[in-house]
Amino acid sequence: MCDKFPRQFKSMATIGDNLQAVRKRIAEAAHAAGRDPAAITLLAVSKTHPPERVVEACEAGQRAFGENYVQEAVQKMDAVAQALGSARTHGLEWHMIGPLQSNKSRAVAERFDWVQSVDREKIAQRLSAQRPDSQAPLNVLVQVNVSGEASKSGIEPRAVVALAQAVARMPRLRLRGLMAIPEPTADAAVQRARFRMLRELLEAVRAHGLALDTLSMGMSDDMEAAIAEGATMVRIGTAIFGAREGAGRAA
Ligand SMILES: *Cc1c(COP(=O)(O)O)cnc(C)c1O
Repeated sequence: MCDKFPRQFKSMATIGDNLQAVRKRIAEAAHAAGRDPAAITLLAVSKTHPPERVVEACEAGQRAFGENYVQEAVQKMDAVAQALGSARTHGLEWHMIGPLQSNKSRAVAERFDWVQSVDREKIAQRLSAQRPDSQAPLNVLVQVNVSGEASKSGIEPRAVVALAQAVARMPRLRLRGLMAIPEPTADAAVQRARFRMLRELLEAVRAHGLALDTLSMGMSDDMEAAIAEGATMVRIGTAIFGAREGAGRAA
């Protein structure tokens, strides 16, 4: 249909432009909710995109990156480090946001700064045992299933406090908060309800005396609803890097 403006036209927006547009959306949503935009961290989800795109995003000032697949992530970290040099790699922060497999936990414990997808005590124990003493404790979010039957990933809401308390006791982990990936829906009221549930769960965990500062929720299509409900971190892929090959919203 748009043959007159083929591919180049679509790809004319650079990653820097896209980042700027996303930061603007975050600022507008924050202002609409009476919140300070500086209280919302932008995590750039670079899964499936090559290291060159990450370097481009770094050059546009982006610092925090999210990845879903361990092997892909580790290769990308190395390639980005090589391209940027050690001084500029230093300020980067890598977040594991995909499903955790126990046979890959060592690489996660050694290479990432954050893990957002902890949904069971056993994997948390492995990560704590495998986190090298030479590194700062691994920042952890407990992933919660806020969508009931419509989703399989994350721990069920009624088990969140107990898992959070267990993670908080692990020596090489630092529990920072909660994360959720609600089922995709265009219904803004449903989006809000899912995100509200996660915020209320964070408050419930805090009421047990744990000092948490992070509520990771909101993606390209629902970041406004998440920010309205109190997100302190939004995880944005498509709106920054463009569409991914194949399907693949959340892995
Ligand atoms: C892929 C992914 C995202 C980014 O989704 P977009 O819709 O591309 O913004 C965010 N969070 C998780 C856990 C993901 O797997």
